[in-house]
Amino acid sequence: MKLKLHWQILIAMGIGVVFGIIFQNVYKGEPTGWFYGMITSLGTIFIRLLKMVIVPLIFSSIVVGVSGISDGRSLGRLGGKTFLFYITTSLFAILIGLTLTNIIRPGDGVSLATAATFDPSSLQTPGSPAGILIRMIPLNPIHAASSGDMLGIIFFAIFLGVIITKIKPQYRDTLRNLFEAIFGAIMKITEAVIKLAPLGVLGLITKAVATSGFDLFAAVGIYMGTIIAGLSIHFLIVLPMLFFLLTRINPILHYRAMASAMATAFSTSSSNATLPVTMRSIEENAGVSNRISSFVLPMGATINMDGTALYECAGVLFIAQVLGVDLSFTQQFIVVLTALLASIGAAGIPSAGLVMIFIVTQAVGFKDMDVALIIGTMLAVDRPLDMFRTMVNVTSDSVGTVIIAKSEGETNLYKNVKM
Ligand code: ASP
Repeated sequence: MKLKLHWQILIAMGIGVVFGIIFQNVYKGEPTGWFYGMITSLGTIFIRLLKMVIVPLIFSSIVVGVSGISDGRSLGRLGGKTFLFYITTSLFAILIGLTLTNIIRPGDGVSLATAATFDPSSLQTPGSPAGILIRMIPLNPIHAASSGDMLGIIFFAIFLGVIITKIKPQYRDTLRNLFEAIFGAIMKITEAVIKLAPLGVLGLITKAVATSGFDLFAAVGIYMGTIIAGLSIHFLIVLPMLFFLLTRINPILHYRAMASAMATAFSTSSSNATLPVTMRSIEENAGVSNRISSFVLPMGATINMDGTALYECAGVLFIAQVLGVDLSFTQQFIVVLTALLASIGAAGIPSAGLVMIFIVTQAVGFKDMDVALIIGTMLAVDRPLDMFRTMVNVTSDSVGTVIIAKSEGETNLYKNVKM
């Protein structure tokens, strides 16, 4: 019998803690030796593999997501409305994450070994919010890709995606097929890399415990609480309220109709894998037409990830707090913007959100060395958070679908759901 990945990760974490304690006691200070070197290299290798997939993954994911928007129909009204709704709810989610993390401050008070050497002046001083928006336009897209300028890559990918929908059908289809094929392959690579997570976690946790002790774990516990609280606010208050305001329908009806999709999202941690269940629930229980659902839901599964957006923002603020860095207003603005873009670029597969967190840390200017250890610990506890955020992602897609359907004049809603 093969153990599920999240159990493997949990076991790896346990072994890492034990190894870490042993190294801590044997070396009393920064451990050395080939065995320690070998184990901690596993963590380094894993982080490098994750970073390897980021650029091709977000690029192809965005081009496929955006160029698929029209899907033979016009981008027009429906596309515009859907996009607007998705961006708005993601921003709400991010603001919840921003506020809660700033109030609770889960990352305060951790004495991390690397934090002592961390030099805040190495952070980018981004200038004004307007300057950031201007800098999103890359001078050279290839250079943006090779230097990891995520905002530039994302800008170019969105632009290209939109243009692909507008060129001659024969070219459009060729390009779309090409990018879909690339996206499919990169997704497979990502899945393969994520399978190595137990080894990576073993290396990263061993190092974290050996060099920093348990402070970080306590902080990560509070960090988990913060994110789950934020996700709950979004799931139980913001989305139902938006739903009611825009449709005048009782949100409980909707949550009943979508229960199986939510459960599937929770247990698979994948919006993509849940898509068939979401489609069925929204058509059979909520009564939305296939014309709307076949357009709005797949787009949602690819680009609308409220839970992930909240998580990216809260995660990066947490990292900054652990490192003892106070982010300025403009730096927090960058976090909000990149969290939004990272959630758009994240693929709907397990742990995709965690891969994307590097984008946001990089955009603010954190170097890999500083953040890898913290991200390693966050990775060890990622599975439960992933379950919650995926459920929120899928719920937001479904709420959007009904709102759009209603605004398009559909009336046959929730005939099959009893109160
Ligand atoms: N697992 C999430 C999803 O499929 C993405 C993420 O990792 O945040 O929606």
